This record gives sequence, C-alpha cells and structure tokens, in this order.
Amino acid sequence: MRLSDHFTLAELTASQTAARLGIDNTPSPEMVDALRRTAQLLEQVRALLGKPILVSSGYRAPLVNRAVGGAANSAHMLGCAADFSCPAFGSPLEVAREIGQSDIVFDQLIHEFRAWVHIAWSPQPRRMVLTIDGAGTRYGLE
Ligand SMILES: [Zn+2]
Repeated sequence: MRLSDHFTLAELTASQTAARLGIDNTPSPEMVDALRRTAQLLEQVRALLGKPILVSSGYRAPLVNRAVGGAANSAHMLGCAADFSCPAFGSPLEVAREIGQSDIVFDQLIHEFRAWVHIAWSPQPRRMVLTIDGAGTRYGLE
C-alpha cells in the first residue's frame, strides 16, 4: 500500500527485530492514518534534501519498541515518527541541520549521534531539536 508518492506502508512498518523475534508489527487502521501523515512529513524532508531517503524504522508495535530499546513513550508506537538517513545528501548531522533550518513543522527532530535522524509530528508540534548519544539527551544539534 502506497502512503504517499515516495513511501509505502511496507517501508514504514518493516522491522528486522520484529521479523527476528516473530512479533506482529501490523499497524491498526488508526496507526495507518498516522503513518500517512508521517509519510507526508517525509515527503517534505525528501523535497528539502532533493535526494531519496532511507527509512530504518517507522511504526513499532509496543513489543518491538521494547525489543529495540525505544523510549517508553516513543512516537514510533503511535505511527508518528520515522528514523531515516539520506547518505546522498550528507551525514545525519548535516541532514538534521538542514531540516532544523527549514520551515518544516515537526514535533521532535533528533540527531541520534552519527547514526540516523529521528523526526516526529504531533497535533501540537513543539519543533524541539535534540541530540542523543551515549552521554544522554541534549537540546540542539551536534
Ligand atoms: Zn526514532
């Protein structure tokens, strides 16, 4: 199922962890609606960067989220978040900086240190920009 011009439901629900552990990562219809909005957010990011985006994690059923060590209140469980990279554009830090300087509306933008970028939307977007690494969580990008 296509969620937007460039993103499919399969892409936003794929989980190696779910496959490995035999966990059902099928989203409910409400979650699929949320994922449609996530796909629209990713379309904005794709248009900004001008390059294809590689999604590494979108929707996560609660058991999958726990298995990958996700935050207890992770937006991934609501279908409102995606982790991605865009190697054709640059490093995760360069990608996060470009999004942070754009007028794209998001709830949280996180540079997960040198690994990927997390972006999430919410009905009350805070446009919060964070860096997470082995030392913890901090405001801003580095
Ligand atoms: Zn994430």
